[in-house]
This record gives sequence, C-alpha cells and structure tokens, in this order.
Amino acid sequence: MVVVMAADATEEDIARVVERVESVGGEAFVSKGVARTIIGLVGDIDSFHHLNLRTLHGVADVHRISDPYKLVSRQHHPERSTVWVGREGMRVPIGPDTFTLMAGPCAVETPDQTLEAAQMAKSAGATILRGGAFKPRTSPYAFQGLGVRGLEILADAREATGLPVVTEVVDARDVAVVAEHADMLQIGTRNMANFGLLQAVGEAGRPVLLKRGMTATIEEWLMAAEYIAQRGQIDVVLCERGIRTFEPATRNTLDISAVPVVQATSHLPVIIDPSHASGRKDLIVPLARAGIAAGADGVIVDVHPTPETALCDGPQALEGADLRELASAVRRLPELLGRRDARDLTR
Ligand code: PEP
Ligand code: MN
Repeated sequence: MVVVMAADATEEDIARVVERVESVGGEAFVSKGVARTIIGLVGDIDSFHHLNLRTLHGVADVHRISDPYKLVSRQHHPERSTVWVGREGMRVPIGPDTFTLMAGPCAVETPDQTLEAAQMAKSAGATILRGGAFKPRTSPYAFQGLGVRGLEILADAREATGLPVVTEVVDARDVAVVAEHADMLQIGTRNMANFGLLQAVGEAGRPVLLKRGMTATIEEWLMAAEYIAQRGQIDVVLCERGIRTFEPATRNTLDISAVPVVQATSHLPVIIDPSHASGRKDLIVPLARAGIAAGADGVIVDVHPTPETALCDGPQALEGADLRELASAVRRLPELLGRRDARDLTR
C-alpha cells in the first residue's frame, strides 16, 4: 500500500501516519522528493484498512499496489514525475514536459579538461554536467579516477558554468563525500544490484541517476529503484545504457523499447545513454534521435575537448561537428513532440 501525502503535509502529519501504521504492527517507509512525500506500507493490508488513513490530516490518497515495486509504480501516481536537480536558483527539471541533455567527460582528468568539457556541454544545450571522479573500471590497472580531488574539480566547473553536477558513486563509504560535492548521485550499470549501495544513496538526500544493469531485466531495474525510494529518496531518474547481447558491432545494445515499457509502469523519468550503450561516436546522434522519438526524457553523452588523449572512453566522446549535430537534434526534435527546453524552466 502507498500513502500519498498532500503537497502541504507537515512533518507531524507524516509522523502521525507512521505511528498509526506501526501501532498495528506494520512498517512505514517514508520517501521524499523535492515535490512530494509518499509512504510505503508493509504488513497486514486488512489492519491498514481499519486505520482509515485517508481521513488523517495531510493525507491526499491511499492506493493498493499490485506491482512488485510500490513507491516507483505508476499505480499510485498516474502522471509521470518530474525530478528537479541542483541547488536553489539553478534547479533544472527532468521529466515529461521537457527534454534534458546531460553531457561531460567520461572521467574528470584535469581542471582544464573538465572546465572545457563543461563549456562544450553548456554550449550544446546541456543543463546538467556529467563527469566521473570514482570510475568503475573493468581492469584494476585502468585509470580509476581522481576521487575526492575529482569531485572538487567538478564543483569548480559547476561554479564556473552554473550547471548542476551528476557523478558516480561506486562504494557506500564514499556516498557522503560525493553527496556533499554533487547535485545528483549516479549508480552505474555494474552496481545496479549492489543493494547496500542503493540503500546508502537512498539515504543521502540527493536525487539519483540509476543506470540499468547490463544484464538486468526491466523489473529488476525497477526493483533497484525501489531500494533507493524505500530508503527515503523518491527522486530517481532511470537511465537505459544498453544491455549485453550477442551482437559485437556495438559495445552493448541500446534497448529502445525499455523507454516506453518503463514509462507505462513507473512514474519515474527515463533517459538514455547512447555513449556507453554503443561505445562508438558515429552512433551517438542516430541513437539519441531514436531515444527522443521513443519518448525518452533526456539523453546523457560523453564529450571531451581532445578525445584522442582521453584517459577513459575516448572513442565515444563527442566534440566539434558531431557535438553540434547532437545539439541540433536535441534542440529541434523534442519540440516536435511537445517538449520544452529544460533551460527555460531553471529555478
Ligand atoms: C559512466 O557513465 O561513466 C559509466 C561508467 O557508465 P555505465 O555504468 O553505464 O557503464
Ligand atoms: Mn565511460
């Protein structure tokens, strides 16, 4: 069962619901986002019915959910959600009314490289800067990222460009420091089913970008989102970044159908990552166009001022004419589908 709190519900209203649920032996998980609060109930449904929760002050609605994921299900929230990212005054939306471009270097390497990539991202129309400080590399001998120094460089790039920052966290021990520097926490494909890490980011008080595990079903991916929501954070954006198939022409296979499938069943926004899906810069623009047409709420891409020197994922990084072509697709195509430019709604 999910209790949807009214927009003006107070902390006391929330506490009263939790107390009533616990009084009949149930458990209540409070999940908050910038825009609203919902409470997931676990326990005996009949005893919850007797509580008449709908009549409590601050309660907007109560829903019985048949999906295995509750808080992220569309059953209690028929409208699709908008997630706001960034600090006050520079908060940008990701959701059904807009189209969001997130761009930046795969890895933070130096202050200059990061700032240049951030400026490229901004000129291309991006509203969120991406960049890895903690890199989940397949080889332990590959560049692992600059760690906390990388977070500081990202924070400086945010100050210089006004773009909120999304960056990956790979270890539950680093969640606090990443949350201190970044505006949105990214869970990468390799950690989608790291349940302890999902719980830790759920408690960190920042919106989360949750990539699909490369071998995860859509239901497993939504259950991973539920872990984050259950620990307190309902502002989760899902990212389809390609799944592992038998096809070697691309690094992974971008599962375009995941976009409408997820949107039919979850209220959370969905974006695509054509860079990590394909690993090939010649495919980024066609895949981004396909994602826009399929109804994605945004796209995240790698850009680099000098891809040939990149320490990570150079072959998929955009620059120059390729980046301009992406910018043009992102500016023109979503508008045809009735979406607004996320830059116009910053608040
Ligand atoms: C990334 O975005 O930097 C990344 C490592 O992506 P993924 O987890 O999708 O491989
Ligand atoms: Mn990468």
